[in-house]
Amino acid sequence: MKIPMVDLKSQYNKIKSEVDKKIAEVIDKTEFINGGEVKLFKQELANYLNVKHVIPCANGTDALQIAMMALGLQPGDEVISSDFTFIATVETIALLKLTPVMVDVKPDTYCIDPEQIEKAITAKTKAIIPVHLFGQCCEMDRIMEIAERHNLFVIEDTAQAIGSDFTSDKGWTKKAGTIGHIGSTSFFPSKNLGCYGDGGAIFTNDDVLAEKISSIVNHGMKVRYYHDNIGVNSRLDTIQAAILRVKLPHLDEYNAARQRAADFYDNAFKDCQNITTPVRCKKSTHTFHQYTLVLNNVDRKALMEHLNNKGVASAVYYPVALHNQKAFQEYEYNPKDFPVTDKLCETVLSLPMNTELSDDILKYITDSVLEFYRK
Ligand SMILES: *Cc1c(COP(=O)(O)O)cnc(C)c1O
Repeated sequence: MKIPMVDLKSQYNKIKSEVDKKIAEVIDKTEFINGGEVKLFKQELANYLNVKHVIPCANGTDALQIAMMALGLQPGDEVISSDFTFIATVETIALLKLTPVMVDVKPDTYCIDPEQIEKAITAKTKAIIPVHLFGQCCEMDRIMEIAERHNLFVIEDTAQAIGSDFTSDKGWTKKAGTIGHIGSTSFFPSKNLGCYGDGGAIFTNDDVLAEKISSIVNHGMKVRYYHDNIGVNSRLDTIQAAILRVKLPHLDEYNAARQRAADFYDNAFKDCQNITTPVRCKKSTHTFHQYTLVLNNVDRKALMEHLNNKGVASAVYYPVALHNQKAFQEYEYNPKDFPVTDKLCETVLSLPMNTELSDDILKYITDSVLEFYRK
């Protein structure tokens, strides 16, 4: 057996004829940039998310950068995010010469800790970027309440949680990415809604922001060759949009397949003292971009080696907290501020998670993990 973390090939095989036909159509029309498929995808994703505006762009990293540009953030402004995330979230803050203020996460959900946000706010703070890590929403009720009280913008990094639902104490349920002022996502192939190259999108319910974002993604122009502000070149190409249009109707079923695999894992590990399975919080569904365990008193390297010998892939998301990354050394973070992240970096382990995990495969994976403890 050889079990990879993701299995895009088996997923593709199930939709191959439709995808191949769509790609051929785009090529036949030579509508490579801003073709009809892009416009249709925009609308269909907006309908799915129940959000007013979806602006596609080239990738999830650009989506974050463009969101901050659209909010008019200025050099020196502070933006708060968590240090237990993929680097893109914080890298884009630094790239725009804003000041990345990183705070610790919660030990149960691995998402940003609202109490730490509150403590980190200064007169220079302008925005918060909560990351819905591994497929589960941050505590958006608390985060929106803090943001309103301090007059801050909220950009939700939804790269790992497209399709997740957050239910507020106030009674409403909304899709991840549509609660704050702006949401961003990625269509990187291995994401829950992945294309066959790079892709991303920005969401907002605000008409003014939507217009600004649409302009920034396209060199700051509304009318061709008339540039109103400094923008970038960040487009979702038509072939990717065509592929995403085939895959979007399957997104709920894809996320359900991930949840089913997660249930299988939870159940298999429930009596294992050495494993803490992912917490499911009441207010958010979990779409399991990753299935990430916390290992208690386990030699992680030895377990990964054991799994590797059995043909089972595993991975560490993330091995180094952002405050410890060389790239961020100049900001001189206090290493004592991140006890939870530091512990997670030492103890987390992610198992194969994708839409194509059969019970046989899952049983082989969980047996292989449990065998390590019986040795
Ligand atoms: C993948 C990811 C991104 C970046 O997306 P790209 O499309 O790869 O640029 C940003 N934030 C998080 C949390 C991610 O997982």
